[in-house]
Amino acid sequence: MTAQINPTRSTQDYQALDAAHHIHAFLDQKALNEKGALVIAKGQGLHLWDTDGKRYLDGMSGLWCTALGYGREDLNAAATRQLAELPYYNLFFHTTHPRVIELSELLFSLLPAHYSHAIYTNSGSEANEVLIRSVRRYWQILGQPQKKIMIGRWNGYHGSTLGSTALGGMGFMHEMGGMLPDFAHIGEPYYFAEGGDLSEEAFGLKAARELEAKILELGAENVAAFVAEPFQGAGGMIFPPASYWAEIQRICRQYDVLLCADEVIGGFGRTGEWFAHEHFGFQPDTLTIAKGLTSGYIPMGGLVFSKRMAEVLVDRGGVFAHGLTYSGHPVAAAVAIANLKALRDEGIVSRVKNDTGPYLQKLLRETFANHPLIGDVQGAGMVAALQFAEDKASRKRFANENDIAWHCRTVGFDEGLIIRSTLGRMIMAPALVATHAELDELVEKTKRAVDRTGRELK
Ligand code: PLP
Repeated sequence: MTAQINPTRSTQDYQALDAAHHIHAFLDQKALNEKGALVIAKGQGLHLWDTDGKRYLDGMSGLWCTALGYGREDLNAAATRQLAELPYYNLFFHTTHPRVIELSELLFSLLPAHYSHAIYTNSGSEANEVLIRSVRRYWQILGQPQKKIMIGRWNGYHGSTLGSTALGGMGFMHEMGGMLPDFAHIGEPYYFAEGGDLSEEAFGLKAARELEAKILELGAENVAAFVAEPFQGAGGMIFPPASYWAEIQRICRQYDVLLCADEVIGGFGRTGEWFAHEHFGFQPDTLTIAKGLTSGYIPMGGLVFSKRMAEVLVDRGGVFAHGLTYSGHPVAAAVAIANLKALRDEGIVSRVKNDTGPYLQKLLRETFANHPLIGDVQGAGMVAALQFAEDKASRKRFANENDIAWHCRTVGFDEGLIIRSTLGRMIMAPALVATHAELDELVEKTKRAVDRTGRELK
C-alpha cells in the first residue's frame, strides 16, 4: 500500500520548525533537536507514513487510542456533519444537546447496569481531576470531609496534570514538583520482579494486602479511594495475578473506601471485554475513560459513576461547583457515537475476545517462549508486554534493562515498527481491527527488533 502524502515542506524544514517551537513529552528536547523528530504525515488502517514516505506498522494504536485504526470515513463523516449542525454547545447550567445525550444512552448500554452517570472531559488527565474532586465531594456530602486521601500505586499512570500526577506513582514526575498532600501509594502487583518464592496467587494476595496495611496506617476514616489501572499501562503493561482484584475489592468494601478504575487504556475492548475491570471480574465505583472512546480521532474523556455514587452526588449534593467549557462537546460526542457503534456493530470487540486477541497472545508466547532475552510475555486481547530477562528461570532482570528496551524500540522504528519501551519492558497495543496478517507482521517485526537488540548490545 502506498500513501498519498502531501507535505508542504521538506522533512528537514519540519524538523527545524519542530525544534524551534515544541517541547516534546517525556523526552530530552535538546537531545532530540540534534537528531530531529520523526514527522508522521499519514495514517491508514494500522499503518503510518512519515514525510519521507517510509511506512510503519503502528503497534501502539498511536498512544493506545486508535482502536479502529486510521482513516475511518464514518468517523470523519460524523464529525463533519456535526460541525455543520451544531459545532459547539455545553452542559453548563440548564442546557444540553442531542449528541451528548445520545452518546450517554449508547455508552451506558455497553456498560454493566451498575453505572448510570458521566461527566465528560477532553482527556484522561482531566477525567482524573474530575475524579479527585468528585470523590472529595462525595465524602463531603456524606459528612466525612476528612476522608480525602487517595491511594494509587507506584508506577501507576493517571495523567500529567497536577492532581493526576500526584495520583500516579511515577517517582520521576513527583520529583519535578508533581506531588501533593493527601495522596499515598502502594506497590505494583509485578510478579516477575517482586514475586520472590511465592506462587502468583500468593503474591497477588500479598500485593493487594499492601492496600489494607496502608489504609490502617492512614486511618480508614481518612482514606477516600483506591485508584488503579486494571492492568498497568504506561508503567509496563503489568497484569496482576488472578487473586489480586478480588482481594482489593474486599478490602475497599471492608474499610468503606471507594474503588476507582482507570480504564483510559483498558476500556473499549482492549482486553476483549468492553472494559478491563470486566476482564478481571471486579466492580469499581468509578471508571475513568478516554482514548478508545473516540479512537483518538478527537479529544474526549470522561468519568463514569456507579449508581451508588451518583445517587449521593445528584440526590443529596445540590450544586457541584465544577465545569469544563468543552465537556460533552458535540463534535467529540458525534465521533464517539460513530466509534462505539463501529466497535459494537462490526463485532470488533467480540472478535478481539474470540479470535484476534487469542491469536496475538498465542503467537507472541510461541515466538518468544525460548528467546534468550525474553523472560515473560503478558497480556490479553490486543495488549501485551515482553519482559527482558537475563535468566528466565530465576526471573533475573538485566541491570540495564531500560537501555536494552530503549534500543529495541529504536531498532523497531528502523525496521518500520512502532513499539514502545517502558520501565525495561517492550509493550504493544495494536488497533483492535488488526487482521491475522497484520498481527503476523507485528510479531515478526518485533522479533526482528529483539534479535537485533541482542546482537547489537552484545
Ligand atoms: N490514565 C491512563 C491509564 C493513561 O494511560 C493516560 C494516558 O496515557 C491517562 C490517564 C492520561 O490521559 P491523557 O493523556 O488523555 O490526559
